[in-house]
Amino acid sequence: MRPDSQLFYRPTRLSEKEILERAREARRLSSPCRLCPRRCRVDRVSGEKGYCGAGPVPTIAAALPHFGEEPPLTGSGGAGTLFFSRCNMRCVYCQNHQISQGFVGYEVSPALLAREMLALQDARCSNIEPVSPGHHLSGLLAALAIARRKGLTLPVVYNTNGYESLETLDLLDGIVDVYLPDLKYASNEIALRYSDAADYVETAREAVLAMRRQVGNLVVDMRGLAIKGLIIRHLTLPGNAAGSEETLAWIGEHMPRTVTISLMAQYSPLYRSNRHAEINRRVSEDEYDRVVDLAWRMGFRNVFVQDPASQEVGIPDFEQEAPFHWQGEPPN
Ligand code: SF4
Repeated sequence: MRPDSQLFYRPTRLSEKEILERAREARRLSSPCRLCPRRCRVDRVSGEKGYCGAGPVPTIAAALPHFGEEPPLTGSGGAGTLFFSRCNMRCVYCQNHQISQGFVGYEVSPALLAREMLALQDARCSNIEPVSPGHHLSGLLAALAIARRKGLTLPVVYNTNGYESLETLDLLDGIVDVYLPDLKYASNEIALRYSDAADYVETAREAVLAMRRQVGNLVVDMRGLAIKGLIIRHLTLPGNAAGSEETLAWIGEHMPRTVTISLMAQYSPLYRSNRHAEINRRVSEDEYDRVVDLAWRMGFRNVFVQDPASQEVGIPDFEQEAPFHWQGEPPN
C-alpha cells in the first residue's frame, strides 16, 4: 500500500478544556442515552442500562500493545489498545464475545484510564487505540483530557464496528486522529440476522462518510506509522454473506480509489456462529482471493490483505492474563 506520507505533520488538536467540554456533552448524550443509533433513552448516568448493558463507569478488559493490527497502526511497538467491555451490536461470530457480550472487564475511572494510556505510551506503542468505546464516550474523553495534560502525544485511533451516530462522531472531531471503522454488511437483512442491527447498512455508511470528512485519507509519517486518516475494515464472511462486492462498489462510488481499505480474512466460526450453518466454517482461500482481486480490478491500491493461512493469529482469550498468545513477545 502507498498512503500519503508527510515528514512534518502537526495535528490540530483540541485543548484540554475543549476536550472536557466534549466529555460533558457526551455525558449529556447518555442521559437519556442516545450515544449510538440504538437510542435506548435510558438514564445511563443514574445507572440504568440499555441495549449495550454498559453502566455509568467505563469498563475495560485489557490495555496492551497489540501486534496484530494493520502495519501503520502496529509499527514496532504495537498499537496501544484499550479493549472496552460491552457493545451496541450482537455479532454471533464476535471474536471478542467474552467482553462484548459477556462480563469480562473492570471499571476504570478517567484518571486510571489516563494512566493506562500513558503506560502504553511509555511502552513505546505507536498510538492509543480504544476498541469499541462509543458507549463510554464521556469517560474516554475525560481520560484523554487528563492524559494529554500529562504528556500524551500519541495519535488516537478510534476502532469501531461502524454502528455510530453522527451526533457522537461530531464530539470526536478534532480529537480522533485515525478512524478504523468496519463496514460489515451490505444487506440489512443479513445485519439483523448476524448482528441484530436492522439499520446497519445506511447507518454505518453515513458514519464512515462523516469520519472521512473529519480526517481524510490515511497519512503516515516517515516511519510508516499512521498519524491521521481513515482505514475501512471489511471482514469477509463465508458464502459472501458480508456482501463484499456491494461494499467495495459503494466505497468506489463515494470515495476516491486512494482510500485505504483493510480486507480481512480472519473470520473464525466462533461463539454462536454454529447456529447458522452457512457461516459455520472459515472463509476459503478462493472466496477471499476473489474479494482481493475485485478490489484490485476496481482500482483500489491502498489495500491491506491478510494471509488466510494465519487466521488464528488475532483471536484473544480475555479470561487469560495475557489474552493474545503472542503477548509479551511480538510475533515475527
Ligand atoms: S450506548 Fe448503549 S444504552 Fe446508549 S443508546 Fe447505545 S446501546 Fe443504548
